[in-house]
Amino acid sequence: ATTPLPTPTKTTCAYCGVGCGVIATPDGLGGAAIAGDPAHPANLGRLCVKGAALGETLGTGHRILHPAIHGVRTTWNRALDAVAKGIRDTVDMHGPDAVAFYLSGQLLTEDYYVANKLMKGFIGSSNVDTNSRLCMASTVAGHRRAFGADIVPNCYEDLDEADLVILTGSNTAWCHPVLWQRIEQAKARRGTRIVTIDPRRTVTADSADLHLPIAPGMDSVLFARLLVEIAERNELDSNYIARNTIGFDAALANAQEIAPSRAEAAARCGVNEIDLATFIEWWLATPRTVTCFSQGVNQSAQGTDKVNAILNVHLASGRIGKPGAGPFSLTGQPNAMGGREVGGLANQLAAHMGFSAEDIDRVGRFWQAPRMARGEGKKAVAMFEAIERGEIKALWVLCTNPAASLPRADAIRAALRKLDFLAVSEINAHADSLIEAATVVLPAAAWGEKDGTVTNSERCISRQRPFLSLPGEAKPDWWQICEVAKRLGHGVAFDYASPATIFREHAALSAFENEGERLFDIGALADLADEAYDALEPVQWPLPRGATAGTKRLYAEGGFTHADGKAHFVVLAPPVLKAERSADYPLLLNTGRVRDQWHTMTRTGLSPRLAQHRNAPFVEVHPEDAARYGLTDGDFAAVSSPHGQVELRVVVTDAQQRGSLFAPIHWTDATAARARVGSLIHALTDPVSGQPDSKAVPVAIRPW
Ligand code: SF4
Repeated sequence: ATTPLPTPTKTTCAYCGVGCGVIATPDGLGGAAIAGDPAHPANLGRLCVKGAALGETLGTGHRILHPAIHGVRTTWNRALDAVAKGIRDTVDMHGPDAVAFYLSGQLLTEDYYVANKLMKGFIGSSNVDTNSRLCMASTVAGHRRAFGADIVPNCYEDLDEADLVILTGSNTAWCHPVLWQRIEQAKARRGTRIVTIDPRRTVTADSADLHLPIAPGMDSVLFARLLVEIAERNELDSNYIARNTIGFDAALANAQEIAPSRAEAAARCGVNEIDLATFIEWWLATPRTVTCFSQGVNQSAQGTDKVNAILNVHLASGRIGKPGAGPFSLTGQPNAMGGREVGGLANQLAAHMGFSAEDIDRVGRFWQAPRMARGEGKKAVAMFEAIERGEIKALWVLCTNPAASLPRADAIRAALRKLDFLAVSEINAHADSLIEAATVVLPAAAWGEKDGTVTNSERCISRQRPFLSLPGEAKPDWWQICEVAKRLGHGVAFDYASPATIFREHAALSAFENEGERLFDIGALADLADEAYDALEPVQWPLPRGATAGTKRLYAEGGFTHADGKAHFVVLAPPVLKAERSADYPLLLNTGRVRDQWHTMTRTGLSPRLAQHRNAPFVEVHPEDAARYGLTDGDFAAVSSPHGQVELRVVVTDAQQRGSLFAPIHWTDATAARARVGSLIHALTDPVSGQPDSKAVPVAIRPW
């Protein structure tokens, strides 16, 4: 069991991908005082209101404290035996691809590592996916297409040093508040201009110098037009293009087809032509430009193309990996990048390797794995469709609730009941219908008890350290996975004494047969003693053997991971909305977050202070749509799609575009009746990344 530490403990925030450093001082009664860590490079002491309220979300009243089989308390031994038997029986009867793991960007890297190793090396399937698929998969795919690897080229300091910050599909002020504070301070200090590109007039847009209220789904048109004008105005970085890239001419011709004139681009994007001209002029005049992009770009049926449209303009102008200049993905969860590092996605192997014969062989030899997976597994939406069809029969869900958050959430709830076997590692006794459907429930460790590492949006690896005892019989996820692996006969490969042991192996794998051709290399951390792991300071990878400091920026001088060493410009498919409005579903639903809640509120919902900001689910409606559909501000409305219905309080606001609605994702059956917005979302996904489109879902609305 973890020993509580009596002194202030440096750890990392449980929520967003900013990855702020936190100092937690336990009060000896199960709570803790929380402060920002002034030494952490992500936040330099700042915290947002969610982070500052972390101390209010501790306590065990809501926790699962004991293992259970079919709802009846049992011992760990019996519970773990049951999980191993569920997996073994399924593999014996139906083969390894009938088993799947569904993981979470809230897991620590060490948890993720052993889950992937077990499934991809020892069970012999790649059916491991994660709720990061709902978050950053389009960015991962876009990075890999352009750079050859999933690499964020820049660091947070570039937000301090930029003269123009473009926020695309990102309500940064609410969703990445500490980065927003950095941007606002840069504005105050050096006059940094801020442009937001967002269908909604958000709080972020209200504070921007320019807001482009783009039509849903048209981001690629905007950036294609920008690429054309960069070329027409002779502002290309021709040396950079010639030395470090391929495919520019095709990408430019493609952009000219997509956005042949400024007027046409403005019309398709639904923005004022003068505003579009201003945006382009500011870009051309400002070498220090950072383009941040987040869920508004990723959660789209053309999300990967949108990412590549942004990367194309940064490559064409050589604005990448330089102080104050680069494309910057703002990740959603604290460990979305750590999961990507160990192969947390079904289409990756481990240490940023893929499923080439060479990578499979390399990882297999390193792991001494008896049953290496030979190809990509099922991505989240496809995984649950396979469960519905009865192809996947055994599932282990760790640290997430697909019945609340996946598209077609009602159908997912039903699908869970079709499984022959469902194991759930969870902290929250009220995890919607997930717990009810489970064969075996395993009580997991929570933030404040967990011990390991996470990687934030700027490639910075930070420690999450425990400062509370594990309550009841709760155990860390990595321990649970290793105990099941031992029961499956893989005791030697999963005989880890601690998270430090797992981390060393993960670091060693990143450096294994890696002579610099793979940028994800943290070999310098492969020999960390336990004490050094405990004391590990935040550090940005790459960190190859012999390196004594992390790497802030990449690609300013090329050095891309594609075999030819070049970045690849990407030709985009014609930008279109893949799901159009219809007579039955005449509006497009956009989903997102509110400032003070996180995911499905399992933690933030415990804080009365955080509930004060928005205390109930709602739907935002433009005044003309409200009049058209007979809706009144403050009354309830039924919002429906072919997949489900929710009932939400109406907020009439001209911050919302005509023909579109906005609803936050946070409320589930555990926190509000009939407000589970996931039940409305279609299963439409990006063809490259597999990321679901939850920003433009055809729906209907009527008074309730
Ligand atoms: Fe936590 Fe994100 Fe807020 Fe930082 S910005 S304190 S990581 S929620």
